[in-house]
Formats: sequence, structure tokens, C-alpha cells
Amino acid sequence: NVSRTKMPKYPGLDRWILTEKMGDGAFSNVYRAKDSTTEFGEVAIKVVRKFEMNNNQSDHLHPSVKKVPKAAERANILKEVQIMRNLDHPNIVKLIDFSESRQYYYIILELCPGGELFHQIVRLTYFSENLSRHVILQVAKAIEYLHETSGVVHRDIKPENLLFYPTPFVPSKNPKAQQPGDEEKEDEGEFTPGHGSGGIGTIKIADFGLSKVIWDSQTMTPCGTVGYTAPEIVKDERYSKSVDMWAMGCVLTEKVARGQYTFLSPWWDDISKSAQDLISHLLTVDPEKRYTITEFLAHPWIRGTDEETSAAA
Ligand code: ADP
Ligand code: MG
Repeated sequence: NVSRTKMPKYPGLDRWILTEKMGDGAFSNVYRAKDSTTEFGEVAIKVVRKFEMNNNQSDHLHPSVKKVPKAAERANILKEVQIMRNLDHPNIVKLIDFSESRQYYYIILELCPGGELFHQIVRLTYFSENLSRHVILQVAKAIEYLHETSGVVHRDIKPENLLFYPTPFVPSKNPKAQQPGDEEKEDEGEFTPGHGSGGIGTIKIADFGLSKVIWDSQTMTPCGTVGYTAPEIVKDERYSKSVDMWAMGCVLTEKVARGQYTFLSPWWDDISKSAQDLISHLLTVDPEKRYTITEFLAHPWIRGTDEETSAAA
């Protein structure tokens, strides 16, 4: 692994020891790092190179021209940081610190050692409805917090931006009660981490690079709770929030659909009517008819009160 052998040195990041590259994006590199003073333990550091958005046309200009980050680029980074600064939820990656050097922005984040849910979905051959529920419920709790408490729309919900804490393998006391891929027995009652969790413990939403605060023009406060807000503003707000709901439907479909490759064919028949019903309410083209996060959380499939799920448990 090349990323392990040579870690770059960044000016102003002296207190952190970079140990591994975790993410490789167009505008950012994300590293796993540990604190040389042990105050924070392990973190993730998102390093965003300044001037990245200046196109090649500026290359022939005097070098000093490129030394100033574009105002829009700077505003975007600061917005991402500012939004994260105000968030505090167990299913959202926490901002630890922010700093910058002449060439880079450094966003210090809570580390999610499991990495992307995306990779875990690919690794797993079987993704049961119970595991899908375990995952999407945590995503939904984070979105509920964003939409209803913080007035924030994420706008980039996808498996690459959903990170997780792996669960250690916990051997069952009764060996017969826990077989690899044996969802139904393990999921009886409270969810217990182990094989059936697909190694997925806590899910955390990351990457607020495209997120946005919806402002209430009346009170000049974030549109978290609808109180005195005019209908047309509520409608706008509802529309932008519905973007996240559609994306959640896509994530859910991808996971539920995983069952097809190793499970019964025709695969769609194998997925509960209740799950299909829920997905159809998320992947509704008309944003006004699409489920809100509150409606989503009240659905029988999510609550585990639909007949098929109850019968299986
Ligand atoms: P970008 O805007 O470039 O998409 P992200 O914030 O999504 O930046 O980070 C890029 C990738 O880096 C993620 O998809 C993930 O693989 C990894 N990553 C980001 N934050 C963390 C974190 N806190 N813990 C572990 N990995 C992370
Ligand atoms: Mg991303």
C-alpha cells in the first residue's frame, strides 16, 4: 500500500502524525492521523488544497496571482466548517478543529475507522432487510436532526459520504443462535452487533461540502422548527429537504437490492412489500408528495411494526 509508505508533510500540521490516506478526492485528501500529544487520540484530517479551483489558464500568469484563493472557494470551505461547527449528533461526524496554511485548509474531524459504507456494501455479499434498517435508521436520525433541529440540508447523501464504526465480532453464548449471515435470529429484540451487523456499528454522515442552511427570512434564524414561517417559505424549505429524502431512497434501494445477487430470484419478490412501499414514497418524483423525514420515521418498516417484519422476528 503506497499510502502507508510515504505520508506527505503539511506546514502547520506538526502536532498530527499522518498514518494512512483514507480518502482521495478531486479537491481533498483525507488522512488518518494521531495526535502527538494524545489529547485527541486518532482523527481524520481533510486537507483541501487552496487555489484548486483556479483553472489552468492562470498558469501563465505571474505566480503571485495564484497565491490568493478565490473568494468563492474560501467561502465554501468556511461554510462547510461553520455548518459542522454547529452540529452535535451521534450519527454526524464531529468537527474537532479547523486551521489553514498558505496553501491548504485543514479540517480536523472525528475519525470513522470503518471508512465508507460504500466499500462495506461492496464487500458484503448479503445485505438483509434488518441490516438495511439498522443502517438507514441511523442515517434517518441524523437527517431528522439536520432538517428539524438545525435547518440544514445535506444535499450529498450517498454511500461514499456515509462512514461507519466497525463492530468487533462478538461471539454468541449460544453458538446455534449466531451463524454468519443469519439475520433473523440475531436481530431478535434489540440489535446486537456481530456477524449479522455486517461489521457495521454506528453510521455517521460526513461531507458537508454541499450542504446548506435554510434561513427563515422572517426571523433570520435557521429553518429548523416551523413556527411563524410563511407557507411559500415552508414550501421552499420542504423542497430542499426533499432532496435528502430522495437520496436516502437511493441508498436504501441499493442496499435492499443487494439481496438480489446471492438471494432468491426474481429478487424484487423477495423484498418485503413494506420495504417496497417505503422506497416508493422516497423515490416519488413530485417533491411535494415525497415523504418527509417525519413520515419516513413513522413508516411501519422503519418502526418494525409491519406484519412481514414482525412475523420474521
Ligand atoms: P469530498 O468533498 O472530497 O468528497 P469528503 O469529506 O467526502 O470529501 O471525504 C472524502 C473521503 O474521505 C470520504 O468519502 C471518506 O472515504 C474519507 N473520509 C472523510 N472523512 C472521514 C472521517 N471522518 N473518517 C474516515 N474517513 C473519512
Ligand atoms: Mg464526499
